Amino acid sequence: MDDARAAGVRAAITISTTTTDAGEARDIAHADPRVVFSVGIHPSYADQPIDWARHAELSRDERCVAFGELGLDEHHERPLPAVQERVLTEQLARIGCLRAEGVGKPLVVHCRKAVPRLLPVLRASGIPMDEMVFHCFTETADEARQILDAGAWISFTGAATFKNAAAIREAAALVPADRVMVETDAPFLTPEPHRSVRPNAPRFVGHVAECLARVRGIDPEAFERQLDANAVTFFGPALAAACAAPSPPPAP
Ligand SMILES: [Zn+2]
Repeated sequence: MDDARAAGVRAAITISTTTTDAGEARDIAHADPRVVFSVGIHPSYADQPIDWARHAELSRDERCVAFGELGLDEHHERPLPAVQERVLTEQLARIGCLRAEGVGKPLVVHCRKAVPRLLPVLRASGIPMDEMVFHCFTETADEARQILDAGAWISFTGAATFKNAAAIREAAALVPADRVMVETDAPFLTPEPHRSVRPNAPRFVGHVAECLARVRGIDPEAFERQLDANAVTFFGPALAAACAAPSPPPAP
């Protein structure tokens, strides 16, 4: 986070994928005022043990800003689609109940090669689609249109900067200015011109923003201000507070 701040990235959301690592994400967010976290069961871990009581408890934490990742992944063969869909449906139902009792947090959606199957499941949940972001978008422009028509947001990673990613950039040009975000995401998705650097880190995310500004033909600094405002609009005041928090003293 010190490196991120030096690069102009003021806060970060650490994402969870199981009810075990959600606890670790919570601990990180409580140890560093610049970090907030999310609580969710990623489709790739839908066949792991799930502690739903812990899911509910962690989602109520004041530093938890979102549910997720959750969704469907048809790029990987396991877990089987039926298992992924069962866990997603149960997760959405539980989120619906938590939201009804006041835990009004947005959803970070993971979707790989599954837009046609995923959109109906999300719609059926009754949760407003404008409180969902399809993160790490790597599908086609046509699928971006379907997601936007449904009312959701779209977020882009280093994958949008890769030489062979013209289709992702085509999609990035379509997203309205008030529904686009950028993110760090995975350790192996470092944006160009640093693609070979491992692990990826928040300090590189400005390169994703720069690439999208170029594709959209707009001023990069104005676009960065829009992205900052979008992230706070979507994730809420806990993220704004993390952006404004002073950096803690360096660890001994
Ligand atoms: Zn994901």
